[in-house]
Amino acid sequence: MKNIVTFLIVVLLSTFWSWGAHADIDAAAQYTEPVGRYIQVYQPDDAGLPMQDALLAYRNGQFTPSGNSVLNFGIGAKPVWLAFKVRNAGHKAVRRNLLLETAWLDKIDIYFLRQSELIDSYHTGDGLIFSQRPLDHRFFTAPYDFSVGEITVLIRVESDDDMVLPVYFISDEKLAERNQLQAYSYGFMYGVILALVAYNVMLYIGLHTTPYLFYSIYLLLFLLLNTAYTGHGYQWLWPESPHWQKWANPVLIMACTVSGFAFALQFLNIKTAWPRVYRFIMVSSAIFCALMLLAMLSGEFVVSLLISLVFIFFFYISSIGLGVISLKSGDQFAKYFLLASIFTICGGIITASAVWGLIPFNEMTYRATDIGMMMDAILLALALAERFNINQSEKLLAEKMAGIDSLTNLNNRRSFYKFVQPIWAMGLRNKSSTSVIMLDIDNFKMLNDTYGHALGDRVLVQLAETLQKEARSGDILARWGGEEFLIFLPETRLTDAVAIAERMRNKISAIQLTSEKNKKLSFTASFGVAHTYVVNVPLDELISQADQQLYRAKRQGRNCVCSELAD
Ligand code: GH3
Ligand code: MG
Ligand code: MG
Repeated sequence: MKNIVTFLIVVLLSTFWSWGAHADIDAAAQYTEPVGRYIQVYQPDDAGLPMQDALLAYRNGQFTPSGNSVLNFGIGAKPVWLAFKVRNAGHKAVRRNLLLETAWLDKIDIYFLRQSELIDSYHTGDGLIFSQRPLDHRFFTAPYDFSVGEITVLIRVESDDDMVLPVYFISDEKLAERNQLQAYSYGFMYGVILALVAYNVMLYIGLHTTPYLFYSIYLLLFLLLNTAYTGHGYQWLWPESPHWQKWANPVLIMACTVSGFAFALQFLNIKTAWPRVYRFIMVSSAIFCALMLLAMLSGEFVVSLLISLVFIFFFYISSIGLGVISLKSGDQFAKYFLLASIFTICGGIITASAVWGLIPFNEMTYRATDIGMMMDAILLALALAERFNINQSEKLLAEKMAGIDSLTNLNNRRSFYKFVQPIWAMGLRNKSSTSVIMLDIDNFKMLNDTYGHALGDRVLVQLAETLQKEARSGDILARWGGEEFLIFLPETRLTDAVAIAERMRNKISAIQLTSEKNKKLSFTASFGVAHTYVVNVPLDELISQADQQLYRAKRQGRNCVCSELAD
């Protein structure tokens, strides 16, 4: 029992001891996580402290353990010194790479020392033009052969940007694997976003609908911003421009956010739905842009970076707000927008938490922003597609409604011609036997005057229903005027047309209605029928003939069918 207690105390003490003393890095081991916990840090007031003095400070215990796997010193931090020991307990040198996975660090000096003797050093950072880097890599890497024994590594990092330092200690093979994995995932992401950009540009060109344009610009700027902060931009797009590399992040954050706002306001139709919110966002954005411009003109990098970050934070909060108010006011697309914003924001929170050490730092948590943004892009593309779809069906419905008489649900003249014209053209070619019936309610004015307009309307509705019931499937009906109707009968001989008209006349005269004063009443209609073998006769000529026959029917005392048949 006593032995066990002693054993536990020894284990605890040794753990504590090794923790307090900060274990050295074992050259032969594989570290998959950033090695921040092995690193001690020092942030002297003297930014120009020489390396030998920093080494002395390390020896004198002025460096403190970092305690985190990813080191983070925030925005506009003083230059920082990192130190750690690498022990090679084997018999031959071990080659390892120091990898600093932050693309925007301005100036990095790496020193390898044995005792106090400087053996090797690297000087890199994105303050240099890209080709001056020791390795063609979007991050900063320093390969080194760690000889047997103990090597002290001192690193000085200087940067106005957010000084996040995920330091990796990995073999060539693991580095290559890591590079490849990242190349695939970025290839996939850039591919998806570029495809969405192309798709939305096409839609804009084809449909001239501005949200597609704004969305494409937003995506393109996001892509550019992503290449800026991942280092791809410097590696591929502007390797000769360290000045732009420095300003690219704040400038592109502003541009991307402005375009994000432009899209959101357009997409959710905020200008008309919420004019005061619209004005507030426009004014706020203008203020942010003006402040940014001022900071840039005065060369205040840290201030401009902070302005851009506050602006993007403002954008996130506003997006949620805009999404919620639009959803409440019944915008069916707001749910996509809201969901997309939540994805982006969650991604941002996860990445920030990983960087600040609140959750484990790994490829997934670090890249959560990218994943969130990609989900955002896909969701919004879907929303745009669905909006297009709905707009289109609304348009079709409106078109259809424009051709239909709202009282009787029959075609109006416009859609009558639309449907009849092609049949007429076919008939011309085939010399088809074609008939037309025109009918008009008898003494309708009197009916209206006696029983009221509402009853007149009911008469029209009843009559239209009767006509529809009696017409055959290929016949085309229309409300031609107030109480005048037209029926086009393709492939119909005059005798058949007259028979149909007679049947309709009978059915109409049999309709019984009850007036408001409970009086039973009925009504009649007069019919004119015309026929032709469509040979170079204009359609209107045939209709006019039917009208003439109708006129005859009226003169003959109404409630009858007239045609050339009886002549
Ligand atoms: P006729 O037998 O000679 O055709 O006489 P009529 O009274 O039917 O003809 P007239 O052209 O003198 O009157 C048509 C009436 O139809 C006049 C108008 O108020 C009425 N009317 C037209 N459209 C509508 C409608 O949509 N609803 C109602 N209730 N009445 C309508
Ligand atoms: Mg009339
Ligand atoms: Mg009439």
